[in-house]
Order: sequence, then C-alpha cells, then structure tokens
Amino acid sequence: MIFDSHAHYNDHQFSEDREAVLASLPQNNICGVLNCGDTIESSRFCVDLANRYPFIYAAVGVHPESVGEMKESDLDALRAMAKDKKVVAIGEIGLDYHYDDGAAPEMQKYWFKKQIELARELNLPFVVHARDACADTIEVLSEVGYFRGVMHCFSGSRETAEILLKMGMYIGFGGTVTYKNNKKAKEVARIVPSNRYLLETDCPYLPPDGHRGKRNSSLYLPRVVEELALLRGCDTQTIEKETEENTKRLLGL
Ligand SMILES: [Zn+2]
Repeated sequence: MIFDSHAHYNDHQFSEDREAVLASLPQNNICGVLNCGDTIESSRFCVDLANRYPFIYAAVGVHPESVGEMKESDLDALRAMAKDKKVVAIGEIGLDYHYDDGAAPEMQKYWFKKQIELARELNLPFVVHARDACADTIEVLSEVGYFRGVMHCFSGSRETAEILLKMGMYIGFGGTVTYKNNKKAKEVARIVPSNRYLLETDCPYLPPDGHRGKRNSSLYLPRVVEELALLRGCDTQTIEKETEENTKRLLGL
C-alpha cells in the first residue's frame, strides 16, 4: 500500500471537501499520511486532524518561510503538542533561500537548528524543507549531529544526496520526479538505496505529470510510484512495499 510521507490537508484548498477526500483514501490503497504543519497554528490543526483519522499522523514545526516571527515560547508550544501520541515527527523545518524577502539566512539557520535539537530531545524524526540552501542544510545537520530525518521533495544533486545518505538521512520523492526536465531528481531516484526513500505529495502543491495545474492529493501517488518503478527497474508493488516500510521505520510506527 501507499504511505504519503508529506501532505498538507490542513491547507485552505481542502476546506470545501477535506472530509470527503480523507475518507476516500483508505479504499484507494493509501495506508497512511503524515500531515505536516508549517506554523504553530497549522501544527495545532494537524494534531486535531490526526486524532480524527486512524491512518493520519502529524508532524509539528515552523517552516523556514514562517520563522521570521518565531519566538522561543513557540518551541515550548511545539514541545507540548509533541506529547500527543499521533505526533510522530518535527516538521516541516529547514532553509529556503529562494525568495529575496524571506527571513535572513542566519535567522533561518538558528530556528532550523533549534527545531532539530527539539526533535532529538523528544526522540522524534524530523522533516526537512531545503530550497536553494544545500550547503547550509548540510552545515546545520552536521553541527547538530542528529540525522534521523527526511529531505522532503529533494531537489539537490546526486553528490549532495550521497552526502545526506551517508549521514543517515532519507530522501522523499513526489510529483516533481515525474517532470520530464527534472533530470537531477530522476538520477537521485535511480541511485538511492532501497531502504532510504519515501513517497510524498506535498499536496495540495506539486501534482505529478498528467495532473499539472490541478490540486494535488494522495490519490495521484500511483503516478509517482510508476515513475519510480521505471527509474529503478522494478515493479510498482516493490516501490509501494519499500516506501511503506521505510516510512514506518523512520516514523517509528
Ligand atoms: Zn510541505
């Protein structure tokens, strides 16, 4: 079955039909979803959602695009939320240098580090968002020295992937690996060890080829599974089985 290791069903794009979409997942071969927070408020929503569906789990954390207003007391709020048994990871956290008006790199690195340290303190894995920030991501991870995490929607080179894999990190693949011109992700998908890769949607964002322009959901993951099977030269059942096992191992389920 398929485990979606990164979704945002809290997003307003699901406000009209959230319950219907979620209720349809188990009968469509989806066995689990990790719904990731990106602010304190959305993290709270994720915890509530996870408590209403047995197959949904929550990650709580503050996304690099939102760390500009983060305060020390927010770490306490995340720590308190993480006591809930459906909270199985800290995330999504990381570095995003794509936008000129984002928080300063030093501030982003500070909160990234603090949140990885929180994951270590709580003995939880973490979910990393890294965009145009490969070198600094590796630097922060090395400084903390805790590597029980996943690089979500990985967009770096094969060389960077190899460094992260050596550290012990997992790599997440979603819709972007199906895009024709995404040679880097396809190359990484070919070489990643079978016990270190996960499936993800990042829905409602990044729908796979064939569904572009639409709202993404876990229901489109079979297209990503097909692409990975093609790239790795195996059947789709193998991709489903390996990614389900890998996700459960990382999340301690
Ligand atoms: Zn995300």
